[in-house]
Amino acid sequence: MKIACFGNAAVPYTVSWTGEERQFVGVCPHARGLALRMQHAPGIGKPQFGKPHSDRQREVIARGLCDLCGKPLKNRTKVSLSHARGRTNAAPGSTTGILQVEPLLHRECALDSMKFCPSLKRDLAARTLMIRQVNRYAVQFAIMAPEYIQHYVADYEPSPKDRIVGHAKVELIRWIDRDFDWLSQAQKSGDDCRQAERVDAAVPIGGVSLEP
Ligand SMILES: [Zn+2]
Repeated sequence: MKIACFGNAAVPYTVSWTGEERQFVGVCPHARGLALRMQHAPGIGKPQFGKPHSDRQREVIARGLCDLCGKPLKNRTKVSLSHARGRTNAAPGSTTGILQVEPLLHRECALDSMKFCPSLKRDLAARTLMIRQVNRYAVQFAIMAPEYIQHYVADYEPSPKDRIVGHAKVELIRWIDRDFDWLSQAQKSGDDCRQAERVDAAVPIGGVSLEP
């Protein structure tokens, strides 16, 4: 899969386009249940950086794909650039409670993202960038409050029984804090499969967390 471009900017796989703005409630194959979904028309209109497509956001997290290129992360070094910190609303039995909505990335894709993403550039300049090499994680799906759905889908009739999924979340279980030097070595080492045997302990498991 080739990374899409808009002008000079690479467009992450999960970014939504202006042609995809219509939202609806429907069965999401990735969440395996009702979810807040978006029309599917990648490449139509303009990319909306910072606004992920709801289906593709769930797809990459549920299937273990990269946020930027959309290819599998299996047997590869997995990187989180999220600022997520410990939270208290993790699912029961959760070990760390660190939940992030940003999907994981290949190491070289994380480095690529630094080149065009304004917020990551700001983080780097301000020394607030957080780089984690993720060795183990779990997948969770957030359930939205039914009345909240109407905010996105005007003709939706809320029912208290509805369990409608919003974002998928990555729960970080085990990781190593890294710095930009480590990330920038991704280019030199190229494909980092050699390290993969050691680090690939990530086993996505099902789980549900409740939105606060
Ligand atoms: Zn990638």
